Amino acid sequence: MRRVLCAVMAHETNTFSKDPTDLAAFKRRDFYLGNQIPEARRGTRSNFGGSFEAADKFGWQLIHPINASANPSGTVTREAFEYLVGQILDAVDQAGGIDAALLHLHGAMVAEGFEDAEGELLRRLREKVGPKVPIAVTLDLHGNITPLMAESANALIAFKTYPHIDQYECAWKGAEILERAMNGEIEPRVVLARRAMLTGLDMGRTQGGPMKELVDQGIALEEKGDLLSVSVFAGFPHSDIREVGPSVAIAYDAKAAGRAEEARATAERFMDRCWETRDFAALTFLTPEQAAKKAKAEEQGVTKPLVIADYTDNPGGGGYGDTTALLKAMIDADLQNAAFHAICDPEAIAEGIKAGVGNTATISVGGKWDPTKGGGPLTLTGKVRVINDGEVWAYGPMGGGVRREYGLSMVFRVGGIDIVFITNNGQALDLGQYTALGIDPARKATVAVKSMHHFRAAFQPISREVIVVDSNSLCSENFKTFTFKNAHRPIWPLDEITDPSR
Ligand SMILES: [Zn+2]
Repeated sequence: MRRVLCAVMAHETNTFSKDPTDLAAFKRRDFYLGNQIPEARRGTRSNFGGSFEAADKFGWQLIHPINASANPSGTVTREAFEYLVGQILDAVDQAGGIDAALLHLHGAMVAEGFEDAEGELLRRLREKVGPKVPIAVTLDLHGNITPLMAESANALIAFKTYPHIDQYECAWKGAEILERAMNGEIEPRVVLARRAMLTGLDMGRTQGGPMKELVDQGIALEEKGDLLSVSVFAGFPHSDIREVGPSVAIAYDAKAAGRAEEARATAERFMDRCWETRDFAALTFLTPEQAAKKAKAEEQGVTKPLVIADYTDNPGGGGYGDTTALLKAMIDADLQNAAFHAICDPEAIAEGIKAGVGNTATISVGGKWDPTKGGGPLTLTGKVRVINDGEVWAYGPMGGGVRREYGLSMVFRVGGIDIVFITNNGQALDLGQYTALGIDPARKATVAVKSMHHFRAAFQPISREVIVVDSNSLCSENFKTFTFKNAHRPIWPLDEITDPSR
């Protein structure tokens, strides 16, 4: 029976965040070891869910040491990185070797000592298993893909959707490539193309624009069958590392004549288009005050909510989740029948617990990590309405039926706004994050979320309109407000570029 290693090690590291990512941060989010994984993931539309089904179909013994992902935040500690990598590599030894590996990584993890954390994992795995064992990796399309990753793996497979609702399908794709490689039918290799760009492809939005254009072309090429996988990465620009930026990674069959050249030419052509369209931006950002004013003007007699997304304090991109500028604007506008998700602030929740459910309290709210980014602490008087343990079942298109833990959570009502507080940071991407706390977002006049884009999968269908706000928090796309020291230079849009090649 073929032994296939499967593991999740995922983190999107915002190197501008002051909040380091230790092992406890992984344990707070999605952390399962060994035999806990089938129980948590079998039957779900997750990457591991797809991997288990593929293993069943192909008759593999799946070796599954770890499923660990932490909410996006600051640099991963060396201790956490070595622990995670150790779990994966030790499993190879314990199994007495493997026939293939199917890893589910993010692609934008930065660890202390390793700017290219995934590259380092893959380098060590390759060293251990030798050149012949095929390694397929699924990755977030927001990964910063590096030459080390491309040379260490046999296939780098990006999600094709943003919101990322095809993680299950990507796992299947990786498994199929591995099965064909183990059968000796193909010898997959990866080519990588990049340009002197920090950001591009409209941050990966697949609803239209250049990202959709290239993803659609990639799908057509995959269906034609000459190339094994065509992966378009928008990259993750809030990462001050040398290898930051969009890329295209194509897996081809090195046994078939001419495929290497075709893959190289296609990847370069895609990146030429990525460069040409670098200015394309689908979104218009409002200030928090503009958004709140619009919400107030429209709130009477509506049957569906206006959804206001704070794009820039997105906990899914490393935002602290505790910035207050949008909340303050909504309170100042005296919105009625509104809901706000969320302020990540365990201290405020402790204050609420002290006051007790049903009672009025005055508490210090948010803005504690960095009052210069997105609004400092607010002192608010309101009513403690709900306290719970933060368990959420995410059945929306992003969740796929998995359980999420937000830790002690609270609903605190100020004026006409139900404000959600959470202990474990996380962006709003599932209606369950409101409904688990007794708030029906579909019945509100205004619903605020902290998220760039993933919220759209669940919240756009219930909304009458979606607008996005720049509160000048950690995920702002005003890149000139960040100090880049390590990114390769010159790089667009920080520098003048005469030759975009890289
Ligand atoms: Zn992503």
